[in-house]
This record gives sequence, structure tokens and C-alpha cells, in this order.
Amino acid sequence: MPGSLDKAPPPYKRFDTVLIANRGEIAVRIQRACHELGLKTVAVCSEADREAPYGRTADSFLCIGPSNAAKSYLNRDALLLAARLTGAGAIHPGYGFLSENADFAKAVEEAGLVFIGPDASSIATMGDKISAKRAMMAAGVPCVPGPDTALPDDPAAVERIALEIGYPVIIKAAGGGGGRGMRVVQEAARLHEAIALTREEARQAFGSPSLYIEKFLQHPRHIEIQVLCDIHGNAVWLGHRDCSMQRRHQKVVEEAPAPGIAPEVIGPVGLACVQACRQVGYRGVGTFEFLYEDGAFYFIEMNTRLQVEHPVTEMTSGLDIVQSQIKAAQGNPLEMSQADVQCEGHSFECRINAEDPDNFLPSAGVISDLVLPEGDGVRVDTHIHAGYKVSPYYDSLIGKLIVHAPTRAEAMTKMREALSRTRIGGIATNLSLVRALFEDEAFGRGETDIHYLEQWLKQRGAQ
Ligand code: ADP
Repeated sequence: MPGSLDKAPPPYKRFDTVLIANRGEIAVRIQRACHELGLKTVAVCSEADREAPYGRTADSFLCIGPSNAAKSYLNRDALLLAARLTGAGAIHPGYGFLSENADFAKAVEEAGLVFIGPDASSIATMGDKISAKRAMMAAGVPCVPGPDTALPDDPAAVERIALEIGYPVIIKAAGGGGGRGMRVVQEAARLHEAIALTREEARQAFGSPSLYIEKFLQHPRHIEIQVLCDIHGNAVWLGHRDCSMQRRHQKVVEEAPAPGIAPEVIGPVGLACVQACRQVGYRGVGTFEFLYEDGAFYFIEMNTRLQVEHPVTEMTSGLDIVQSQIKAAQGNPLEMSQADVQCEGHSFECRINAEDPDNFLPSAGVISDLVLPEGDGVRVDTHIHAGYKVSPYYDSLIGKLIVHAPTRAEAMTKMREALSRTRIGGIATNLSLVRALFEDEAFGRGETDIHYLEQWLKQRGAQ
């Protein structure tokens, strides 16, 4: 595929050591990819993570601050100093923490290091959901009905826009993330109150009061497209995932491919995503998130980083997405064209969280005993081991159980079997909940939308 970027590719720097600015399962995953590429690694930790197992397998291991993430994993100066002290030439941000922070990406590049991700301007454009929507509309990607501009201050103008879109509408923070900073409005009488509440939340949580409005889709599925781009203008999409199984906008189970969507329906959307990447000079891996309702796709946002659920795409595509991401950051041209991307079989991922399955309160403590499943087509991405202490300071994700089989039905059976063999003692986990979910008939038929899991939980008396 010939390069078609307007932007000249940046001069790329070689590196032989990568600092992994993250923790937990993704720190292990990135370390493995680096070592398989013959790269050295620097692991960092907060005081709470001093015993982290990936510290012992890294080439260097540094404590960068106290348990509070704001003073360690989010401490840019500490991370840059750690890179300097260890001679790291690149920083991999993982997901969460500083992974979508344009200022950090810029600071990394200004320090003469490589940021393993897109450049700061792509992060800034896509990180603001309004400018992302504008860029996608310009590239011909279908978006949720609603303006690609911020909500005006004039109350009458806002009322007119909402009426034009038609209720229900959703008010969203331009800088929102993690399922926060959005509010559904069913009727005109509640519009201004919802705007005031969301604006305040946006100001406090995301540091920007900018909001936008769009149609609230009533029964969509969440479908996303994984892309991979180099700095020479080459870009491919690696198939699609369904992440409709969500609680409070947080994904619990993901699968690839999204069931029941014909290639001729999703194909043009995948190509539009690739086109958009080439237009903005995007580099590395990224995910375009869509809502899918009544046969139509609507773009909602782009994630400019590695996703938690990347393994399901690795299983179906046979590609190592983390290695590809690192190679792209090294300036290497993509090793495949779109025709080489052949997705096969079906893959599921269950997020294993240290939380009470009834009230979802995080559970901290020592893992007393641990049995993890193994076998053909079974993969576990985790940092835990028997004796590991789950700390209360961070996200409750302690591992991901991933399976791959020729068909969706076989992959479901394989996941049931893998879950039945998994034992995590000493702390509460959501294992019983995901086990029950894989017995559910509607989920088995692939007929669920983004509200299904919450309704299912309500029926079970948990919420
Ligand atoms: P975040 O960045 O916080 O993850 P997203 O824009 O990706 O926010 O939205 C998260 C989830 O919120 C979606 O997966 C979907 O469940 C719901 N959602 C977002 N926008 C809409 C909409 N216009 N209509 C219906 N549901 C929506």
C-alpha cells in the first residue's frame, strides 16, 4: 500500500530499552512483547507494587513514588527521570494512566524519547470527542446524529438543537472517559438540569466544561474496529469486536468478531476508519468505537492507545498487536497489507475483577490459592500469583481469561470449561458472575445490546 500522508514522516529513532509506564497485567503483557522483540525493559512501581512479579523479570525496576497513583503512575517528571536514569529510549504508556495524555506524549518526545503511541496532536484531536467527531465526519465515517460543535451557552439555542435531534438525547463531556461524564435526557423539561450537572462533573473530573449533545440510541450494540498504522502512510484494520456486555459503561466480556454482522456491512466502515487514519497521519494502534443499531453504524469515539480487550483480536487475526505497535514506533513499515489480514474463528475475553459479585465493591487482600486454566486456545493475561497482595489503590482488574475456537458456540463452551477450572481464593472476584453469564441463552444467541447486562443483573438481584 503506497504512503499517502500529507505530513512527512518524523525522523524515527531506534531504541533498545523500553520503560513501561504502567502496572498489573498490561505491564506483564508489554514486557513480554518487548523481550520477544529483543528489547530490554524498565519496570516502574509505586510503593504498593514493590512486590510486583514483573519487577523481577524486567532488566531494571524502579520505585517512582507513593501508592497514590497521582504521585507515581501519573507523575510525569518521575517517569521521565526513571527513563533517563535507566537509559530507556522509549516509553510505553499501556492503557489508562497517561496513555491518552497529549501533554505527556509531547514531554516524552521533547525529552528525546519515543512515545509508543500516536503523536501528541493525534491524541489531542481524538481525545476531544467533539474534534474527533468532526474529523470522522470529514473522513466520511458515520456518526451519531448531533452537531460536531460544543453546546452553546444560550438556553434557547440548546433547546432548539435537542428538539431537532429528537428526544431522548445524551449530554456528553468532550473530554470524558471511563464511562463518566454523560447523562441521558428523556424529555425537554429535564434538559437544563442535566446540562448543569454534567458540566460541573466535566469541570471537576476532566478539567474542561465543554459538552456536546447527540441522539441517545435506545438499543445499540457496542462494536469497535482495531486499526494498526505505520509512519509511512500504511494502515490496516484487524477486524471487529463486540463489547456490548457493559455495567455502568464499563466492559465486562468482549468478543471477536461481533456476531451476526455481514462482512459487506462492516467492510466499508473498516475502510472508512483506515481512510480517517491516513488523513490525520495516525501512527500505531487505535480503536474506533461505534454504536450499531438497526443495521447502521454510528461513531462515538476513538481510543488512541492499546485496549484492554486487544487479545481477542490477536486470537482471531493471529497478529501480535503489542509487538506491531512497538515496531510501528520504531519506524518500521507495516509487515502486512489489508489482503494479508485474515481473521479466523471466534474469541471471547472475560475481565476478572477483584470485586464482590453482588455489590461490585472492590476486594483487596492476599490471594491464598490460585488455579488458572491452560490448554489449546486458552490464554490468561495476568500479574497475579498465589500469595500476591491485591492492593486497594488501583483498578480492580486482576486478569483476563481469553479463549479461541473455530466457532462462537465452541468458543463459549471453551470459556465455560476454562472458567470452571479457574479458582482464585482469599479475595472476592466476579468469577461466579461471568460463569453465570456464559450460561445465559440470549447471550448465547448473540442477541444482546449495551443495556442487557444491567437488566440481567437487576433480574438476579445484584446491581
Ligand atoms: P467513554 O469514553 O467514557 O468510554 P463513550 O463515548 O465510549 O465514553 O461511551 C461509553 C458507553 O456509553 C458506550 O459504549 C455506550 O454504552 C454509551 N453511550 C455513549 N453514547 C451513547 C449514545 N449516543 N446513545 C446510547 N448510548 C451511548
